[in-house]
Amino acid sequence: MTFDSFQLHPHVLAGVKSLGYLTPTPIQHQSIPAILAGSDVLGLAQTGTGKTAAFVLPILHRLSQGPRGLIRALILAPTRELAEQIHTTIGGLGRTTGIRSTTVYGGVGMQPQVAKLRRNTEIVVACPGRLLDHLGQGTIDLSRLEVLVLDEADMMFDMGFLVSINKILDRLPKKRQNLLFSATMPDQVKGLATKILQHPITVQVGKPAPAATVSHALFPVGSDQKTTLLNQLLQGSGKGSVLVFTKTKHRAKRLAEQLQKMGHGTASLQGNLSQNKRQEALEGFRTGRHRILVATDIAARGIDVSGVSHVINYDMPDTVEAYTHRIGRTGRADHLGDAFTLVTSTDEPMVKTIERTLGKKIERRTIEGFTYVAPETAGDRDFIRAARQSARGGWRR
Ligand code: AMP
Repeated sequence: MTFDSFQLHPHVLAGVKSLGYLTPTPIQHQSIPAILAGSDVLGLAQTGTGKTAAFVLPILHRLSQGPRGLIRALILAPTRELAEQIHTTIGGLGRTTGIRSTTVYGGVGMQPQVAKLRRNTEIVVACPGRLLDHLGQGTIDLSRLEVLVLDEADMMFDMGFLVSINKILDRLPKKRQNLLFSATMPDQVKGLATKILQHPITVQVGKPAPAATVSHALFPVGSDQKTTLLNQLLQGSGKGSVLVFTKTKHRAKRLAEQLQKMGHGTASLQGNLSQNKRQEALEGFRTGRHRILVATDIAARGIDVSGVSHVINYDMPDTVEAYTHRIGRTGRADHLGDAFTLVTSTDEPMVKTIERTLGKKIERRTIEGFTYVAPETAGDRDFIRAARQSARGGWRR
């Protein structure tokens, strides 16, 4: 199957060719015809499956006909980075269509957004909070909206956007096409989907479990040796980009500083940074200026950086969903990737939960030549001893 069979507008097809996409990914294959036919769609897909183009292409096709200068499509995304990424995809795929998109999110001035929103855009990619500000001030006109997309709906819910989303929904024309994408389907997202979608076609790609192209490994360690162990892992991780996750903004900032001192080109991406700094960190990581990016879950959500060879969980995530999303940053579009997690004895219950979801045990690894200092707590001591015995091949990388 090729993109030609969708009979997309020639300008949209030109965008597909210019990005070098040859064959549609499974989510594109399943959802593009349904969206082109005007159906509401519930898309269950992990990040990295090509779901952005799955909704952007039919939207560009639709907007290629009809009026310009009116906001006809609204895409809601949970984070600024994701909004920028979708905006960039629209720019790439829609290069020759003349269709314009504008991002709307907080942390930057309102006025430049207002200017663009005034008859200068057909697509708005927005985070809920700032969109509500514009709606409140009457600086955005959504009365001609034809398509609504909710991307990463589960993350929106996790971030507490449900109330804002409901307020936004009240302000939209009732007759419209609705598309909802989510990696997982907790009850609250199901409720939202039932409320928004009319006779939806459900499209599911793979199980909502971690990507199969990623190989997983656990590195048992005492909590006070995490940074030293991470340093060793980074030294042995080749030349690819490495995304490191921490539990809190503060830990992300501090760890990035420590790694920088150890001689690793590192930036941090966390919510305490200004929008400019966030963009600079991400761009630096994308272009390879910083090989390592230390991030929190929220900051890194949905980020698509090709060439991420390793995701390293410096801190264990709190939920299986967060683990899935984090490791979804590597192994994208069929590339192989490694997902390493540093685990202390207190992380054991979460390890078990993740293993249950994966349906297999995750390999425990230890690093040859690394001096595991006797951990402080008895729990950690037993844990390291057991890991040492169970690690396949003994002490090895
Ligand atoms: P997404 O899941 O939308 O974040 O997309 C993941 C990556 O796959 C992005 O880098 C896209 O540019 C890329 N991609 C999307 N569709 C295709 C395709 N049909 N062929 C090759 N790459 C694609």
